[in-house]
Amino acid sequence: MQTTIPGFPRLGEHRELKFAVETYFKDHDAQKLQQTGKDLREKHWRLLQDNGLTEIPSNDFSFYDQMLDTACLLNIIPQPLRSAGLSDLDSYFALARGSQTDKVDVKARPMKKWFNTNYHYIVPLIDAETTIHCSGTKIFDEYLEAKNSGIETRPVLIGPFTFLRLSEIQSDVDQTKLLESMVESYRHILQKLAALGATWIQVDEACLVQELSQADVAFFKKIYQALLKDAPLKVLLQTYFGDIRESYQTVINLPFDGIGLDFVEGKQTLALVQSGFPKDKLLYAGVLNGKNIWRNAYQQTLTLLESMNDLNIVLSTSCSLLHLPYTVANETLAEETKRYFSFAVEKVIELTQLRSILAGNTELLEKNKALFSGNRCQPNQVMKEKLQQLTENDFQRSATYETRKKTQHALFGFPQLPTTTIGSFPQTKEVKQTRGKYRRGTIDQQTYDQYIAKQIIEWINWQEDIGLDVLVHGEFERNDMVEYFGQQLSGILFTTNGWVQSYGTRGVKPPIIWEDIERLQPMTVKWTRFAQAQTSKPVKGMLTGPVTILNWSFPREDIGLRETVYQLALAIRQEVLDLEAAGIQMIQIDEAALREKLPLRRSDWHKEYLDWAIPAFRLVHSQVKEATQIHTHMCYSEFSDIVPEIAAMDVDVISFESARSNLTLLDELRRQQFQTAVGPGVFDIHSPRIPTVDELTTTITNILDKLPADQVWINPDCGLKTRGVIETKESLEHMLQAVHRVREGSANGE
Ligand code: GLN
Ligand code: ZN
Repeated sequence: MQTTIPGFPRLGEHRELKFAVETYFKDHDAQKLQQTGKDLREKHWRLLQDNGLTEIPSNDFSFYDQMLDTACLLNIIPQPLRSAGLSDLDSYFALARGSQTDKVDVKARPMKKWFNTNYHYIVPLIDAETTIHCSGTKIFDEYLEAKNSGIETRPVLIGPFTFLRLSEIQSDVDQTKLLESMVESYRHILQKLAALGATWIQVDEACLVQELSQADVAFFKKIYQALLKDAPLKVLLQTYFGDIRESYQTVINLPFDGIGLDFVEGKQTLALVQSGFPKDKLLYAGVLNGKNIWRNAYQQTLTLLESMNDLNIVLSTSCSLLHLPYTVANETLAEETKRYFSFAVEKVIELTQLRSILAGNTELLEKNKALFSGNRCQPNQVMKEKLQQLTENDFQRSATYETRKKTQHALFGFPQLPTTTIGSFPQTKEVKQTRGKYRRGTIDQQTYDQYIAKQIIEWINWQEDIGLDVLVHGEFERNDMVEYFGQQLSGILFTTNGWVQSYGTRGVKPPIIWEDIERLQPMTVKWTRFAQAQTSKPVKGMLTGPVTILNWSFPREDIGLRETVYQLALAIRQEVLDLEAAGIQMIQIDEAALREKLPLRRSDWHKEYLDWAIPAFRLVHSQVKEATQIHTHMCYSEFSDIVPEIAAMDVDVISFESARSNLTLLDELRRQQFQTAVGPGVFDIHSPRIPTVDELTTTITNILDKLPADQVWINPDCGLKTRGVIETKESLEHMLQAVHRVREGSANGE
């Protein structure tokens, strides 16, 4: 039996890629960057080979993002950039991050969440001027590079169906021509790869796991009938993150040579396969969870495989290992704990072990059985009881939104278009270094506290100076919005090197929910209270919501998500009440990742997710006083399809990302009579670009064309921790100048 994976993480064991790319942004030494890429690819291929993987992918590497790679491969580069005379590498990064030089001033392309993961891809733009053809060479270069190192690989490419569905296609694009040019380009790629000696290609079509109409499936069929006609090499259709119930029949009848299916998240995958799978094709069975860090219970997997023993199976993981950290081996956790974990490297080892067990190695199987026979952790009875005693009142604020609005208006007396920020201010090198020193014990508590206090005072003063209405303390004491809380709660474990790519050069270290959760002591009260003491303006308390903590962690598999999120909600609720008791009048509970785990199929949204996610959020804030203003923040604007659920969170103010996307959500909010005050982000914090006052004035005016002024707050898209101090200050100063202009304009009756 062969073994493979749909893809391997590319960040590097020690995040070499991140540092190399970020260095390139400063020194522009392309050769150095290319060399790091080459070294990483080589290392990863060898590692897969050495750990017994029999089929190895290539082109799963990327300097930034695989959708962006595919766009560049297909010549999908907007006009202003194409004529800017930048190198290929620089226009690539300009698409990702925006670019502001004397040669070119372009905004970054929007980023979107990659299916139900915390990875974000760059959304390609196809307009009437786009001429699609295969103009890039990365996929060929990397295939040859591996070949030259003596490793035969299977190049990986995002398939045309998924690529088109995830792209922004302008309405004046000729659809027939678009389809023709896509098929033509992919055919060309297949031919060129075959000519170079490749025998397989993997086309990723994850959009097949979405809810598809018959027309969608017909479109898929049309593409692949044309593409697979006389295909010069074998084609593996790879799907992940669910099952492909709508297209399964179509897929098995198309001339694919291999079909990759997800047996972990695909609830119907097994039933589909049992309804018939062609004997002449390979089934790439994604039986190991490619997204979670727990060791596999081999016996269960063997039983699953047994039920398909008449098929030609290649053992695989449920999805690319991009969403896992590199290796457990680099962790300092106790061996006792570590033996329950399997990161990317260990998943590969597990595949090899399963292969060996299937070939008769009983010792490995027994060892694995022993691991799963004991109790991993003890349940917390107190917590269980608390959860059982919750009543409806725990989920319901005492006053309605309308009443609260009046009370709060009278209390705070803000001008029209109140201004605020989302929470964090720049995490400068100095801030990070000081936190690091404190963590390592090279500076004492007092020195550290003095440093944080100084930052808070400086930034509070500056916020007052520029005239913001609601201030924040800046989150200097926090490394990460989830880690900071997770470290202070019991039941959550942290890795030291468990980085997972979130977007571009940004990685996150998701915590591992290990056992029942409890808050041990106040987590944010000290600094929030300190910040509030520096000013007469309101300072927003800043918390991360339970759904986001859950969604950005590796969840338990021994209890359900619902139970875990309620445990988290109770813990955060205690913090909310403590902040309120300490005199904090506004509390923002970030649910940056609420949408993230929305099931890919709409029919599952409520019963599998929203029916517990929204109540969990309400559980956190429902006990506060009428006058306490609850804010929330979301890192995206695509919630036109869950407006009633967002409204049901019952907050007083919600801010969200919107500068990179357009403002269509606002029309939708008005149409659906959304009452909650909203702060659509007026500038993009992912880009170093400083927005001009004119630009911001236009953005605000556009917002006010869509929503009544007394419903609108003005703020950036998200926290500013990744930005530099100068650009942050200038951007916010511009924001306030724009607000003043608009306020004065409306006062003059314009
Ligand atoms: N309060 C957080 C910050 O400003 C929110 C971050 C986020 O939504 N991702 O950093
Ligand atoms: Zn955000």
